[in-house]
Amino acid sequence: MLFLGVGLGMTLRHGLSSLWVLGLIVTLAWLVVLMARWQVRLVAEPLGQLLNEARPMAIADLPGAWSALEQENLDLKERADREDQLLRSIMTRLEEGLLLFGAEGSLEIFNPAAQRLLGLGAPLAQGMFPPAVFQDPESPVALQRAYLGVPSEWRLSRAARILRARAIPFAPSGAVAGVLLTLDDITRQEALETTRQKFISNVSHELKTPVTAIRIAAENLQEERLSEAGQANAQALLRSVDRLALLLGDLSELSRIESGALRLAPEQVDLDGFVASLREDFEVRHGASGVHLDLQWAGPAGTSVVVDPLRLSQILENLVSNAVKFSPPGGTVTVRAERTDRDLQWEVADAGPGIPEAEQARIFERFYRAQAAKAKPGTGLGLAIVKHLCRLMGGEVTVESHPGEGACFRVVLPLQPSR
Ligand code: ADP
Repeated sequence: MLFLGVGLGMTLRHGLSSLWVLGLIVTLAWLVVLMARWQVRLVAEPLGQLLNEARPMAIADLPGAWSALEQENLDLKERADREDQLLRSIMTRLEEGLLLFGAEGSLEIFNPAAQRLLGLGAPLAQGMFPPAVFQDPESPVALQRAYLGVPSEWRLSRAARILRARAIPFAPSGAVAGVLLTLDDITRQEALETTRQKFISNVSHELKTPVTAIRIAAENLQEERLSEAGQANAQALLRSVDRLALLLGDLSELSRIESGALRLAPEQVDLDGFVASLREDFEVRHGASGVHLDLQWAGPAGTSVVVDPLRLSQILENLVSNAVKFSPPGGTVTVRAERTDRDLQWEVADAGPGIPEAEQARIFERFYRAQAAKAKPGTGLGLAIVKHLCRLMGGEVTVESHPGEGACFRVVLPLQPSR
C-alpha cells in the first residue's frame, strides 16, 4: 500500500513532470511485489495440502516440511530393510524348501533348504526355468497347473529321499502373479506308512481264510435242528462274520489302492449303457430298501468317455449305498451325471440328516464315522476308498451338506483322451 500511495501521489502532484516516471516505477514495483506474493500462495497451498497440512503453508515452512518428508522416507526405507532382513532370516532357517516362480515362469526367490533338498549338481539360480530346477517330467506339468490357478501336490524322489512338493498359485492382488512352491522331506513318514500298509494288507489277507471257514461253519450250523436260542446264536454269528468279511474286504482294497498295487484299466465307455447298468445294480442291491432312485443323465445320446468302468462303479456304489443308508424311509436318492468339455461330473444327493460342517472334512479319513452315524452299520472305510480312487483317476470328491437338509457328494474326473 505504501508503494501504491507514494507512486500515485508523486504522479498526481508532479503531473507528467520529470518525477512522473519515478512515480510510475514505484507503482509498478508494488504491482510486481503483489504478484510475487500471490504466486507464492499459488505454489505453497497445494504443497501444503500435499504434506497434509490443513492451513496453507508459508514459504518459510517449506524447509521444515521437506526435512519431515525426508525423515519419513528414511523411516520407511529402514522398515522395508528390517522386514527384508527378517524375511531372509526366516527363509534361511526354514527346514522346508521354498521357491517362488514369477510371472514369466522363471525362478525368482529360493532358500538354502530348497537347494539342499533338491540336491542338484548345479546350484539353483534366479532365472532358471522349472525343467532345469526339477529335472523330472512331472514337476513342470504340476507347476503349469498352478499357473492356471489349480494348487498341486506331488512326490519327488531325490537320492534315496522322498520329497513332497506343493505348488500354490501366488496371487497377492487377485490375478495369478506366480507360483509358490514348498518342499518337505517325507522319507521317514513314507517308510512308516509303507510299514503300516504292509501290516494291514498282510493281516487282512491272513484273516480272510479263517473268516471264510467260520462263515461256512455258521451256515452249516443254521441247517442243523437247533433250539430257538441256538438258531438266534447262529444268525448272530453269521451277521458278525459278514461284518468282519466286509471290513477285511474294505481294508485290503484300501491298502491295495494306497500302496499303488491297484492299476486302473481305462476303456472307452458308452455313458447311456453305463447309466442303464447303474439303474439295474441299484434295483438288485437296494430295491428292497424302499428308497427310490432318480437317475438324471441328459445325454447327448452316444456320448462316450475313457474311464475304468469297474472303479467308477465302485465309487458311485459306495456313495449310493451311503445315500440309501441315510435316507428317510421312502426317500429319494438323486444321481446326476454331466459331461463337460473338461471333465465328467457325478452328483449323489439324498434327503437324510446331512453332515455337520465340522465333520465334513473328516469323513474321508479312514475309520472316521460321524457321531450320528454310529447306530448305522458300516466300516468307516467307504469314503476313504472313494477319495483314493478319485485321486488315482486324477479327480476329486467333495461334499456339500447342511444338517437336516441332506448331503450331496460331487465327483469330478478329468476327461482322458479318446482311444
Ligand atoms: P461308513 O461305512 O460308516 O458309511 P464311510 O466312509 O462310507 O463309512 O462314511 C464315513 C461317514 O461319513 C459315515 O459314518 C457317516 O457319518 C458319514 N456319511 C457318509 N455319507 C453320508 C450321507 N449320505 N449322509 C450322512 N452322513 C454320511
